[in-house]
Amino acid sequence: MLTLNRYHSLPAGVMAPIRSTNKKASFVPMYPPYQKKKAASGQVRAWAEINLDHLRHNAEELKWILSSRTNMMAVVKADAYGHGGVEVTKELNRVGINHFAVAEIGEGIRLRKNGVRGEILILGYTAPELAPRIARYRLTQTLLSREYGEALESYGVTLNVHVKIDTGMNRLGIPCHDIEAIMACYRYPHLQVTGTFSHLSMSDGLAPSEQGFTKEQLRRFDQVVHQLKAAGLHPGLVHIQSSYGILNYPELKYDLVRPGIALYGLLSHEGDKVRSGADLRPVLSLKATVTQVKEVEASHPVGYGHRFIPARNIRIATVSIGYADGIPRSLADHGGYVLIRGQRANIIGSICMDQLTIDVTSIGGVHHGDTVTLIGQDGAKTITASQMAERCGTVTNEILSRLGGRVERVYTSGK
Ligand SMILES: *Cc1c(COP(=O)(O)O)cnc(C)c1O
Repeated sequence: MLTLNRYHSLPAGVMAPIRSTNKKASFVPMYPPYQKKKAASGQVRAWAEINLDHLRHNAEELKWILSSRTNMMAVVKADAYGHGGVEVTKELNRVGINHFAVAEIGEGIRLRKNGVRGEILILGYTAPELAPRIARYRLTQTLLSREYGEALESYGVTLNVHVKIDTGMNRLGIPCHDIEAIMACYRYPHLQVTGTFSHLSMSDGLAPSEQGFTKEQLRRFDQVVHQLKAAGLHPGLVHIQSSYGILNYPELKYDLVRPGIALYGLLSHEGDKVRSGADLRPVLSLKATVTQVKEVEASHPVGYGHRFIPARNIRIATVSIGYADGIPRSLADHGGYVLIRGQRANIIGSICMDQLTIDVTSIGGVHHGDTVTLIGQDGAKTITASQMAERCGTVTNEILSRLGGRVERVYTSGK
């Protein structure tokens, strides 16, 4: 049982986020040390609530649509898409997930230092000079070319590696037709190949030509794996699907899948159709506080550059979150709004580095200390990160992964 506690040192009316204070609960520490002081002083400026129940639910949903022989490699790069790498990873450890993927060595070391168990694959390039550190923290390195393999091997350190095959994305990996270079990667004395993988570049597309491209990538990948086996080489754990690969091709039976965005309960693009019926629930909500409410007379400009000049007398609220916290500045230009007291309030003027202003003329009773929802639910209304992304012409993944470091992460669970 968790004890949920509210902060008492906030100004009257401030809805503080709820946090766990029960040390006996199987919870990881809630904040990196530098955030502890800020929380204690009660000045909650902007925070992200991470719903661990939804995280576990999404993991279950994805498992459920896949073949029972397929395991999950949770993609927790970029601080678990802004959700908090250590907390998310340890929660997934608790529900039996033992493979993780990060983008770079620093992310992997941080997870290990915080007690994460299982395999941690570095998806990107690591300078070969860092081979001893890769080994020391028991990380698994991606082999992206034969030359890179030679450079790593030359350090004489025993390492686990996964070989990355480029089957048509043309980003990272050994071209699938270069079977000689691929096979060389399985013969380095110090490099233990524990996996072979590739990445799909079109798995979100369901048009015949898009599905055709994905099927061609799968065919090329299968062929490489087949050739390896025929030559007596062991590919280790074989994997190719990320979120859309899982949701659109759930019938595939590889050893691992690599979900990122779906694990966090969202799709990259608002309104995308996928072939499987997984019930995904957004894990993250983003909130901030009203710091001031004021009346502005008609034709008096609001904010930098006089970007907003009201035609009539209005009431505005200033909110303690800005672009340095990850709210795209362009949101204001594309009809961006927030939720307050269960209603929509338009963002007006320019979004500043640390603050933004909203029009609350038609919303009664707004006062300083009110909670403002930028992503999430307030009463009957919801804003999703994918809707925000859509407005700003980007993908959900970018919105989430760019949430700033000074946004406090608050973990909730009813478990
Ligand atoms: C980021 C990444 C993933 C996860 O992608 P999603 O679309 O978020 O599921 C999987 N594999 C690789 C190689 C990646 O870089």
